[in-house]
Amino acid sequence: MGRVFSGVQPTGNIHLGNYLGALKQFVELQDDNECIYCIVDLHAITVEQDPEELKEHILDVAALYIAIGIDPKKSIVFVQSTVPGHTELSWLLTCSSYTGELSRMTQFKDKGKGKESAPTGLFMYPVLMAADILLYDTDIVPVGIDQKQHIELTRDLCNRVNNKYGETFVLPEGRYLKEGAKIMALDDPTKKMSKSAENELSRISLLDDEAKIKKAIMRATTDSDGTIKFDQENKPGISNLMNIYTAFSDLSIEDIEKKYEGKGYGDFKKDLVEILVNGLAPIKQKFEEIRYSDELIEILKDGANRANAIAEKVVERTKKNMGVGLPR
Ligand code: ATP
Ligand code: MG
Repeated sequence: MGRVFSGVQPTGNIHLGNYLGALKQFVELQDDNECIYCIVDLHAITVEQDPEELKEHILDVAALYIAIGIDPKKSIVFVQSTVPGHTELSWLLTCSSYTGELSRMTQFKDKGKGKESAPTGLFMYPVLMAADILLYDTDIVPVGIDQKQHIELTRDLCNRVNNKYGETFVLPEGRYLKEGAKIMALDDPTKKMSKSAENELSRISLLDDEAKIKKAIMRATTDSDGTIKFDQENKPGISNLMNIYTAFSDLSIEDIEKKYEGKGYGDFKKDLVEILVNGLAPIKQKFEEIRYSDELIEILKDGANRANAIAEKVVERTKKNMGVGLPR
C-alpha cells in the first residue's frame, strides 16, 4: 500500500490522451493504495483563462473524475487552490530550485515559445507541481509520459532539500503506461493531444457528442499509403488511431491489422467512431448525473479537509527543517 497523487488541469474537458495516458490508471490504483486526485486550478492559470469558464471547467473535471470511476469514499478528490499548503510549499521549494533547470523544461519552452512575455507562472509550473507531489509524502505519481521531465525535477528537488535540511520529503516515483499510451493530436500526429490546443478537431473529449467525434475522426490526418498497418514512425496518424481503437475494444493491434486487410481508412474510421460513441456513453451518463448535484460540491469540500490534514503536517515539517517561523 502506497500513497498516490496526481492531478489534471481544468484547462478544458478531459480528452482521450488524458484518459488513456493517465486517468485510466487512477481508477486501478484505488484498490490497493491511498489515492489523492486533484484538480490543479493553480496550474491552469499559468496560461490565460477566462474566469467564468475556469469555474465551470473545475467542476467538469471533478465530475469526470467521478464519472470514470474514481470513488470519493476510497480516494481524496479536491481542488488544489482550496488547500493552502500547495502555494506555501511551492515557495519553500522555489528557494531550492535553479533558474537553469527550470529554463530547460520542454513544457515551458513549448507553451512559452521563448517569448520575453512568457508568464513567470509558466516558468515556475514545475516547482508548483513538485510541491503538489511532495506535500502528501507521495510514493507513486501516475502521469502521462509527457510529464516525465517534471517528475525527474521533483525527485531532484526532493533529494536536494533532504540533503540540505535533513530528511523532509518522501522520494516519489513516476508511473507511466506503456509506449502506446501517448495519444497524439488528430490533426497533427507529431504533437501530443492537448486540452489547450486551439483546434477543437485535434482532440476528442470524453464528453463530445457523436457529430463532433465523427468530424474529428473522419478528418484525422493519416497518410497516402492507404493500408491499416501499425508503424509509429512512418504512419503516425493511423497508428495513433489504432492505439485509440485497441484501447476501446477487445482487439489487439494485430487483430485490427487482420480485420482491415484489404480495406481502406474510410471503413476503419467509421467503425472507430461507433466504438468511441458506445465506449464513452456510460461516462457521459454518469457525468450528467453528478455534474450539477450538491453531492459534487460536498465531495470536493470533504476532499479538501482530508487533503489539508495531511498537507499541514508536511508544510510544518518543512518549515521546521528550514528554520523559518517561530521556535518550536
Ligand atoms: P494542457 O494542454 O492544458 O497542458 P493536457 O491535455 O496536457 O492539457 P494536463 O492536465 O496537462 O492535460 O495533463 C493531465 C494528465 O494527462 C497528465 O498526467 C498528462 O501527462 C496526461 N496527458 C496529457 N496529454 C496526454 C496525451 N496526449 N497522451 C497521454 N497522456 C497525456
Ligand atoms: Mg499538459
